[in-house]
Amino acid sequence: MKKLVSAGEILVEIMAERIGQSFLEPGPLVGPFPSGAPAIFIGQAAALGQPAGLIGAVGKDDFGQVNIDRLSALGADVSAIAVHEGHATGTAFVTYRPDASRHFVFNIRNSAAGLLEIDDAAKRLLSGADHVHVMGSSLFSDRATQVALGAIAAVKAKGGTVSFDPNIRREIMQASGMRQALDQVLAQTDVFLPSGNELFLFSSAGDEQGAVADLLGRGISCIVLKKGADGAVYHDRQGTVALPGFAVEEIDPTGAGDCFGAAFVSFWLRGAAPADALRIANACGALAVTRKGPMEGIHRLADVEAFIAKAGAHA
Ligand code: ATP
Ligand code: MG
Repeated sequence: MKKLVSAGEILVEIMAERIGQSFLEPGPLVGPFPSGAPAIFIGQAAALGQPAGLIGAVGKDDFGQVNIDRLSALGADVSAIAVHEGHATGTAFVTYRPDASRHFVFNIRNSAAGLLEIDDAAKRLLSGADHVHVMGSSLFSDRATQVALGAIAAVKAKGGTVSFDPNIRREIMQASGMRQALDQVLAQTDVFLPSGNELFLFSSAGDEQGAVADLLGRGISCIVLKKGADGAVYHDRQGTVALPGFAVEEIDPTGAGDCFGAAFVSFWLRGAAPADALRIANACGALAVTRKGPMEGIHRLADVEAFIAKAGAHA
């Protein structure tokens, strides 16, 4: 089976317990939960049985250990996660506003995560990789962008493929040079996984069809638009496949897009038909939102298939 690699931020997430809670005053928090978009992605891919490894950096502390332990338990290759003494693991503090928007206080660039590099262990991991997935959130510094571009170059040189989820967080987007980095990654992308308005960041077309046609014309193999509870739509040069989302109670949306993407890419790499890859991805995204904590909703393939069968029986 093809091996999937990603590179980027490894964090713990600590969240406000109540909706509408502000960080301008003390309040109850819950966490730490293992997190970081590329970590969630690699954890979900591994849980589905895809060989998958992560290039990242943590501090020599409990927050780092929580992540390494979780990724190992899910079956991911953690050999290229560097552990740095004297630096703390990255963190994300999250509040949920009454309008369902999320607001983050990130400590990434100045944490151990900022020490991301392609060291010997990362080179070994990349030498066995067939595909690299890039999260826009992982382009958080020039150094991190060089790692992503280096990983793409290494995998492409061997005839491998690239997927890209812009995963824009306005708190990170302000990083200088990020805009250019996003465009550089897109130009090398085979599978593009935007959500909501992210599509329009990369095309001047005014509507969805126009933007999709524009991007497919630039050489992207397929575009998968994530639409939250409404499911997802797949586009390639042959046509379009739209599938509705699974009906679940949303407890915590963080991580849905990452789990969705991991499932779609894993099945795309296995040569699955678009509708089949989309169904598994919708199921992983739906399961992700049913638990508090971005990696708590990761399920193994047998459980995902059982969830789909049960939903079908109720439809
Ligand atoms: P993230 O916040 O993790 O970056 P995203 O914006 O990238 O998320 P979403 O569109 O929110 O991605 O979610 C990804 C996928 O997860 C959706 O396409 C859908 O399949 C599933 N999903 C998300 N929310 C729900 C929900 N409330 N009910 C059912 N499925 C959902
Ligand atoms: Mg996302």
